[in-house]
Amino acid sequence: MKIESDFNDIDALGDDHVGTSSDTPMRADAFKLSGKEKIDIIKDDVRHIMETLGLDLTDDSLKGTPNRVAKMFVNEIFGGLDPEKKPSASTFDNKYKYGEMLVEKNITVYSTCEHHLLPIVGRAHVAYISNGTVVGLSKMNRIVDYYAKRPQVQERLTIQIVKELQNVLGTEDVACVIDAKHLCVNSRGIRDIESSTVTSEFGGKFKEKETRREFLDYIQLDTQF
Ligand SMILES: [Zn+2]
Repeated sequence: MKIESDFNDIDALGDDHVGTSSDTPMRADAFKLSGKEKIDIIKDDVRHIMETLGLDLTDDSLKGTPNRVAKMFVNEIFGGLDPEKKPSASTFDNKYKYGEMLVEKNITVYSTCEHHLLPIVGRAHVAYISNGTVVGLSKMNRIVDYYAKRPQVQERLTIQIVKELQNVLGTEDVACVIDAKHLCVNSRGIRDIESSTVTSEFGGKFKEKETRREFLDYIQLDTQF
C-alpha cells in the first residue's frame, strides 16, 4: 500500500511540475563513465524503447536514430550536466566605473522539462549591478545556455543562473526573469498552446521595489534594429 501511495505522489509531483531542490539532483557516480560510454549505453536504451513501441529499426530512416539521440542527449541537450562544460569564470575590472544596472534581455532559452523530457523554449532576461567587476556580455548568454542544457524545472534554472552570476561577479545584486513555453503543457496533457510560464529571482538590491521596477521596465523596452 505504502509503495503505491508514494508512487502516486511522485507521479503527481511531476505532472504538476514541482521541483524539489535548487541543485540539479545528481548521482554520486555521475561522471564515472565517459561521454562515449554513456552514448553507447543510451543508444541501446533508445533502440529498446523504439523496438518496444513496435518500430522496425532495419528501416533506413530509423536505423541511425538510437545513435543520433544518444549523442544529442550527452553532447547537446543534456551537455550542461557536465561541470567541465561550465563557461570559464573570466571577469574584468569595471574600467568605466559604470555603476548602473546592466540588462541582457531576450536571451534565447532552449531547455528540457525534467518531468516529461520535452522542450522548454523561451527567453531569459538577466541583470546585474556591478560592484567593480564586470563580465563579457556573451558570458551571460553562455551561463543561461549551460544551465538550460539539463533536464530542468524552470524555477531551478532561474535560480541557478542568478547564483552562478552572483558567484562570478562577487555581488548579490543579480536578477533573472524567464518567460518560457513548456511543450509538455502546449502539445500534450492540457494542450494549452497560448500559455507560458514566468519565473523570477531577485537578489540583493533587486529585492528593492524601485530597482526591480527599473529592471522590469527595461525588459518591456521594444528593441528594434
Ligand atoms: Zn513537463
